[in-house]
Amino acid sequence: MKSAIVTGSSRGIGKAIALELARTGHSVVINYDRDEMAARHTVEEIESGGGEAILIKADVSWNEDAENLVEQVMDRWGRIDVLVNNAGILPNPRKLEDISDQEWDRVMGINLKGTFYCTRAAVRHMKKQRSGNIVNISSVAGKEGGTVGAHYAASKAGMIGFTKSLARELAPYNIRVNAVAPGPVDTEFLSEELKAKLSKLSLLGRIARPEEVAHAVIFLIENEHITGETINVNGGRYMD
Ligand code: NAD
Repeated sequence: MKSAIVTGSSRGIGKAIALELARTGHSVVINYDRDEMAARHTVEEIESGGGEAILIKADVSWNEDAENLVEQVMDRWGRIDVLVNNAGILPNPRKLEDISDQEWDRVMGINLKGTFYCTRAAVRHMKKQRSGNIVNISSVAGKEGGTVGAHYAASKAGMIGFTKSLARELAPYNIRVNAVAPGPVDTEFLSEELKAKLSKLSLLGRIARPEEVAHAVIFLIENEHITGETINVNGGRYMD
């Protein structure tokens, strides 16, 4: 049995990743910060498909919560094989001079610091196991800037630098660290108006389905010779 934590997995991309991890034989933690009902449904969906899942409430922007999340997994399953840092927020579009200190800190606190907190807590155990897989959900905004604002783009670009740095640091422990940079994805993160507008930027004429991001995560976990990579899932909108 392999265990996996997917942060922010009650809905959207995180939920799709959790379902795919369960389908590929992982026992999965469904983490939520507010919407317990949606998280419970995700657990039930996994269980009704014959998989194993547990529900853990944690706000990843708090170190205590992140540590507690990891400790609960260790108590339950005794190991952590996969950590997917997916929890994130999309702030309202802002020009630089309109970004308040509080908003900057909130975006960084969840998207980037939350990734740091969960990773630091999980890596302690992965190092002892001498194995592990970490996948960070960044964004095309982290590569090309994006339209939301400098705070969101900086948080997502930070996740790419974090991924590369940790891939170097943790390779000797047989821990691989990768990222996925989705373009717009069909989740509640985006308004219907924005989805229609963003579909036009993709060479394929549509935004991604959450399952398409989940497949990239599974690919990165399964391919044992990839580390430090960030995979685009953006319909050809941005190529590098
Ligand atoms: P979503 O809003 O549907 O899901 C985000 C999840 O994160 C929710 O379950 C939310 O409750 C959870 N979350 C937020 N703050 C949290 C916190 N402090 N602690 C724990 N959980 C928290 O969004 P989504 O579209 O599924 O996005 C998931 C990830 O994908 C985000 O990191 C986002 O930046 C990234 N992403 C999304 C898109 C997109 O177009 N939807 C594109 C590129 C990248």
